[in-house]
Amino acid sequence: MENNRMVEEYVNSFMDEIITRNPGEAEFHQAVREVVESVAPYIVKHPHLMKMKVLERIAEPEKIIMFRVPWVNDKGEVVINKGYRVQQNSAIGPYKGGIRFHASVNLSILKFLAFEQTFKNSLTTLPMGGGKGGSDFNPKGKSEMEVMRFCQAFMMELQRHIGANTDVPAGDIGVGGREVGYMFGTYKKLRNEFTGTLTGKGIDWGGSPMRPEATGYGACYFAEAMLATRGDSFAGKTVAISGSGNVAQYAAKKAIQLGAKVVTMSDSNGYIYDPEGIDMEKWEYIYELKNIYRGRISEYVEHYPHAQYVANERPWSVKCDIAMPCATQNELNGEEAKKLLANGCMCVTEGANMPSTPEAIQAFQEAKILYSPGKASNAGGVATSGLEMTQNSMRLSWTPQEVDERLRRIMNDIHAACIKYGKREDGYIDYVKGANIAGFIKVANAMVAQGVI
Ligand code: NDP
Repeated sequence: MENNRMVEEYVNSFMDEIITRNPGEAEFHQAVREVVESVAPYIVKHPHLMKMKVLERIAEPEKIIMFRVPWVNDKGEVVINKGYRVQQNSAIGPYKGGIRFHASVNLSILKFLAFEQTFKNSLTTLPMGGGKGGSDFNPKGKSEMEVMRFCQAFMMELQRHIGANTDVPAGDIGVGGREVGYMFGTYKKLRNEFTGTLTGKGIDWGGSPMRPEATGYGACYFAEAMLATRGDSFAGKTVAISGSGNVAQYAAKKAIQLGAKVVTMSDSNGYIYDPEGIDMEKWEYIYELKNIYRGRISEYVEHYPHAQYVANERPWSVKCDIAMPCATQNELNGEEAKKLLANGCMCVTEGANMPSTPEAIQAFQEAKILYSPGKASNAGGVATSGLEMTQNSMRLSWTPQEVDERLRRIMNDIHAACIKYGKREDGYIDYVKGANIAGFIKVANAMVAQGVI
């Protein structure tokens, strides 16, 4: 009882402080609260962590760089965007995390992502600290040359703050192979060096096989491990996926390969429902539509008229066994969670970062279905970025099979760590608690060992 009171007091005073020091940053508060609630019992049992203010220090980014990104559009007009890099924590390795280009990008979103990334990277078992960056640049509707000029302008400033042993950015929403290419080219020219300072590079110039696939495939490997705890698998399951970008595409591909029927994909304008399932031929169509023609998911129903397009809705009212939110934060709320449960959904595996709201997570856990937070189930992307860094350091590349095997092993290890720290007395696995505690311990021990710096 005394212990419970101490935990509650710790959480409340911690969150009061976070909210006071970081006013108005709702996404950041949400991400911190989830972690503090999970790790507070562990911290209370280890008073030296409290005394050394380890979690307090993790929640304060080591450094935040904010900069102006001026560039010239196709009409010859000067456009000014904001650029950011949040260097959250370097206790166990160089800062590592993606770059997001989206109109909604602000400091709260990047701080939540960098904070989450610190725990995720620790979970991968690889030596990577946490970071995240981006810009409020909106790539939609921009020409190829505008995207290139923007990436060059962004890297012109960022280059002086990053490096292969300092901070290694990668892609995220709005930043894929094309944008990484333009940023890498600029970095290489300005720094006069060819190093592994960005990951997600093209396969012929330092990229790792399987990096594009890694986040989506990894999420499916994690879901497989979750399903196996109940003697189940993907075979014959109906899967609802949100998003149609990098993570969603490869989550869909692997789920299809594992024998599931994928019935939905989406973008920020709506979702498509294909009751017959998206097979590999239809998947190839979506891949080309999104990556080559940069089209919208609504075009799917023009090509496959038996499918439905539902505008301005998310896919969570569709009947499914497995839901994989792979688009963005807070895209699955409490009401939608209840709909999924009422329709018999038994597994939710997050491909995106923080896609489920706290109310949705509570509903899933109360119903005791399988539920994994993004920081565990989408860690395959950054893990494979870590493998890209290793290959760059060794100046060689592994085969796709070797990388895929390592990815699968890492996802299984993360799953095992979640069970170790998250299994409740009644046998239910709290993957949120498991992932947060497992991720925290390694970073905390490193910070204690390195002193108050
Ligand atoms: P992409 O840019 O490739 O795709 C994003 C997809 O999500 C698009 O379909 C996009 O639709 C949709 N989307 C974006 N914002 C919103 C929004 N506000 N509401 C509804 N839909 C939206 O990004 P990724 O696939 O790389 O990233 C998806 C998620 O996965 C993000 O949460 C990211 O942080 C996370 N993640 C990505 C990793 C990676 O390796 N790429 C690694 C780990 C996590 P539209 O075209 O309309 O914008």
